[in-house]
Amino acid sequence: MTNNLRSFCKEENGLALVLVAAAMTVILGFAALVVDIGSVYLTRSRLINACDAAALAGAHELDSETGSALDAMQEATDYLEHNNIIFGEDSFNIEVNNKTITVESSRTVNYTFARVLGFTSNIVEAQAAAIYGPVSAAGGVTPFAVPDQELVFDKQYVLKEGSGGSTDDGFRIHGNFGALALGGTGASTYEENLKYGYGGALNVGDMVTIGDEVVTETGNMSGPTYDGVTYRLNQCANGCTPQNYETDCERVILVPVFDPTTLDGGRDDVLIVGFASFLLEGVDGSGNESEVTGTFLQMAPPPDTSYIIDPDAPDFGLHAAKLVE
Ligand SMILES: [Zn+2]
Repeated sequence: MTNNLRSFCKEENGLALVLVAAAMTVILGFAALVVDIGSVYLTRSRLINACDAAALAGAHELDSETGSALDAMQEATDYLEHNNIIFGEDSFNIEVNNKTITVESSRTVNYTFARVLGFTSNIVEAQAAAIYGPVSAAGGVTPFAVPDQELVFDKQYVLKEGSGGSTDDGFRIHGNFGALALGGTGASTYEENLKYGYGGALNVGDMVTIGDEVVTETGNMSGPTYDGVTYRLNQCANGCTPQNYETDCERVILVPVFDPTTLDGGRDDVLIVGFASFLLEGVDGSGNESEVTGTFLQMAPPPDTSYIIDPDAPDFGLHAAKLVE
């Protein structure tokens, strides 16, 4: 081998080393992208889930009858700890403002490969807020209504009276003698609404037609009432009781609460002021006198119910916590 050739080979070795070093940097750069950025995304999604869970759990404690802001903060802290967000190691902040709880959390992710590119760490942050409040709008309600009053858990109420209205149990006086016309009048609409729940949504503030004429157009009120109530009772397979019921049972119904002062002699429109849930008990009587009863429940809306909550709406025992933002 000539000297010239030898030095050329040496030069080529040196060039190869430079190329390998450059390639290593590119490869490590890609590794940094995959590993370190992946770690940042994973940490972020964990923090988001932890904050969501903590905010929701905390919000459930914002029921002024059973919980407090302090309970809410404690519950949220417990949930963060369940999700491995530890005070001292991670930074988090929980704030309660009336019926809203906000949970913020941040964690430092130390890079492994990205250090090659000069990046050492990244701070990942997440935030969640949840509110607690009564249901202010709901879909799937039954075409019954109860007047605005202090409802007592486990007490049986008349959800639809006969049209006679002679007894003074406090309900007939206020005119809760009929059914609601939801999405139209007539017996078949009423029966559909009773069996399957009203397909539209009702809001606090809506004016709704109430009264016997809603379903007596066909001259038969007890038929659709009996058929609708019986249909629902038959869906209950496990003998639900107010103390032990399945929230998705067809006997668990949503009933609008109305302001009885909006019912005057001439018109039969009433103002919806809230929503309550009842365990449907049965139907009794005949003709226009058929009477429907249910036991008052305190619960979150049944699963698959569409609803909106508003912390400022009147509370008739049907309330929930929801994530906001
Ligand atoms: Zn049941």
